[in-house]
Amino acid sequence: CSGQFRCGGRATFQERTMDQVTDTGALARQLNVDPYWAPFTSNRRFKADPSDRTMISAEGCYFTNANGVKLFDGSSGLWCTPLGHSHPRIVEAVTKQVRSLDYAPSFQVASATTIQLAERVAEMAPEGLNRVFFANSGSEAVDTALKIAMGYHRLTGNATRTRFIGREKGYHGVGFGGMSVGGIVANRKMFAPGMVNGVDHLPHTYDQSKMAFSKGQPAWGAHLADELERIVALHDASTIAAVIVEPMQGSAGVIVPPIGYLERLREICTKHGILLIFDEVITGFGRTGWAFAAQRLGVVPDMITFAKAITNGIIPMGGVIARQEIYEAFMSGPPAAIEFCHGYTYSGHPMAAAAAHATLDVYEEEDLFGRVRALEPLMEAEFHSLKGEPNVVDVRNFGLTAAVELSPSAAGPSMRALSIFEAGLKQGLYMRYTGESLAFSPPFISTEQQIKDMVAILRKLIRDAA
Ligand code: PLP
Repeated sequence: CSGQFRCGGRATFQERTMDQVTDTGALARQLNVDPYWAPFTSNRRFKADPSDRTMISAEGCYFTNANGVKLFDGSSGLWCTPLGHSHPRIVEAVTKQVRSLDYAPSFQVASATTIQLAERVAEMAPEGLNRVFFANSGSEAVDTALKIAMGYHRLTGNATRTRFIGREKGYHGVGFGGMSVGGIVANRKMFAPGMVNGVDHLPHTYDQSKMAFSKGQPAWGAHLADELERIVALHDASTIAAVIVEPMQGSAGVIVPPIGYLERLREICTKHGILLIFDEVITGFGRTGWAFAAQRLGVVPDMITFAKAITNGIIPMGGVIARQEIYEAFMSGPPAAIEFCHGYTYSGHPMAAAAAHATLDVYEEEDLFGRVRALEPLMEAEFHSLKGEPNVVDVRNFGLTAAVELSPSAAGPSMRALSIFEAGLKQGLYMRYTGESLAFSPPFISTEQQIKDMVAILRKLIRDAA
């Protein structure tokens, strides 16, 4: 047992119910953190002093932590709550849904709310992508898309097309498929024996010496897509199922695609009959100012994976949108046969679908993708004003996202970014950090003043850290 948190003497459910608690400090002291194993977290660092990091409540653009500090949610949680927290429309929709149809299996039967959602998502997707398969997370969405790609080729007489191509620094979740095509070394190195066979990685597109402080898409780097030709020559196109990339790499610290890069990837994939998958788990549903980054960038892939912002993060949901031809290829066997032996108990859960409908209603009614486009110049100007602050070696931005890259710290990997993240939790700002990058993706409902205030706090944190 560690820190100020108390061991043993479990609180009853009533005591744990947040709306019963007025003294957040008292609640925090009741929590026993020892059994909790935190994902993608230094557990030892977390448990040494958990109170700043333990969220007690959230409303609008703010969390309140166990120390009673109100924190601006500068990263929309994990890029997933663009409408902020406890949005009344979503709360109402979910409550209504749980009273009418709380659950329906997704095998052999379905929920009407979910079927309607598929139609809606298909309408928002780029032309030609109109078949929607639901999962519960980004990781599941990615693994689903990889399996669809393999299945498609097999069903169309190209069973040798089984290889996948990802990209260095890419993040596609933590399933064995997504991890294998992912290109973040730390996420892969412990699990090498379980890696999916036959995966190559394109080079990443980040070169600080060529693109530091680029605003939006960097001008340098489109030629890196030609590396795909080298990989195709090595293995032969007849062995390659799909290329998967995030149109904008989020988890590696907002790496924005160079102008012309994705267009070139598209051309090469088309030339060789390779499917192109855009992993839009972060960029999907408005983050770049359009429903999908594919639309903003004018490049249409063969499949899109999505998750996060579709339900405003309130209830987990993910999925894949595929071209109709891909779906049709699966429909070729005996009429009553199950065409795709894949799915999850909670695929397209009606509660998630209800949350998604309400979320999409609000995006639409309040033109929030338009708001992202309107806020982007402010986001760009505010973040780029950090150029010249101590240890800031790069600023990147795209849509309503930005990252500030700091010079490496002598104290160890990520230590500069980590210490700023931790200081932020005391000074009213929650942000993401990855490596020495601090990443921001504020709620779409943020006001201009909130974005300015966020950058003002960040500036102070950067100066204090120096
Ligand atoms: N793909 C991308 C591009 C992501 O950014 C993420 C998560 O951040 C995932 C997949 C995995 O999503 P999840 O954590 O919901 O499994």
